[in-house]
Amino acid sequence: MKDTIRPQPGILDIALYEGGKAHVAGVANPVKLSSNENPFGAPDRAKEAFSRTVHSLHRYPNTDHRSLREAIGDVHGLDPDRIICGVGSDEIITFLCQAYAGPRDEVVFTEHGFLMYRISALAVGATPVEVPERERMADVDAILRACNSRTRLVFIANPNNPTGTMLSLAELERLADGLPKQAILVIDGAYAEYVEGYDGGAALATDRPNVFMTRTFSKIYGLGGLRIGWGYGPRAIIDVLNRIRGPFNLSTTQLETAEAAVRDQDWVARCRMENARMRHWLSEALAEIGVPTDTSMANFVLARFGGVEEAEACDEFLQKQGLIVRRVASYKLPHCLRITVGDEASCRRVAHAIGQFKGLK
Ligand SMILES: *Cc1c(COP(=O)(O)O)cnc(C)c1O
Repeated sequence: MKDTIRPQPGILDIALYEGGKAHVAGVANPVKLSSNENPFGAPDRAKEAFSRTVHSLHRYPNTDHRSLREAIGDVHGLDPDRIICGVGSDEIITFLCQAYAGPRDEVVFTEHGFLMYRISALAVGATPVEVPERERMADVDAILRACNSRTRLVFIANPNNPTGTMLSLAELERLADGLPKQAILVIDGAYAEYVEGYDGGAALATDRPNVFMTRTFSKIYGLGGLRIGWGYGPRAIIDVLNRIRGPFNLSTTQLETAEAAVRDQDWVARCRMENARMRHWLSEALAEIGVPTDTSMANFVLARFGGVEEAEACDEFLQKQGLIVRRVASYKLPHCLRITVGDEASCRRVAHAIGQFKGLK
């Protein structure tokens, strides 16, 4: 083995991440409900800001992201010096793993947790530790039992993707308090804006030296294609992450578009309301045709079927009608399909089609 070219340990254990399907053979304009995108797109002000940056493409972007961090700080009532911006929250997750975990260290996440936690842990040679959930809900006691002197990071998405369930603030606090001293609790708030009155874990990350929050512009802001997210936490952690962040990780276009987007909180409020309305409608409609879902706090529902075969057959049936939802076998939920809450017409179409599928049997 000495004279062979091979990657670092762990790398070959990474299963390639598959994004939500976007096309179906033979269907011209499918309805894409597979990637939790905002059906209303990005706010106009963000699109205008994006266009304006065409005039400065020859300039390097600024490296400290101050203007965007101040806008985020303003809107959320947070200290801009405790914020870091990255290429999606994915990059923040990568930084955390690079900075805090390595060979012989353990990175903890839950059974139906976001796939990027495992990928980022393996990429730095750390050992991923997957903790069972209870009926598709993270189990704080089980997570605490899984921790030991090698645990460096504990990732929890709240609300979680693809289950849509979430832990209470009291449970998150109990988790933070129970972790071993050398471990950081990372609260992934990708869907936090969809939960009325929830701060995404910001208060916990403000008060505790071992809590860090990640957020994204990919979901409610409708900017998944732009690739920008941010993290907030203790100054000491931000200082560490900034050392490994590339100085030009974000373009002027990304920075200015995101800044205009975060300033448009009316847009966020309207999208949150419309999402809650249609999510409620969709889960009721599914319940009526015998397809149960957990109470989701995010912009998707997890539809449960009688078994793997039924879920796969339903997915195929939907695709033939130009409706793309997400298979979640890679999340250990092979009998389920994750359906993004689209606009009203898409929700009606997908519910109607699943009803037809159920009627066929
Ligand atoms: C979509 C999603 C993200 C966002 O990732 P980006 O890199 O910011 O696009 C993060 N965490 C979870 C759990 C998600 O579902």
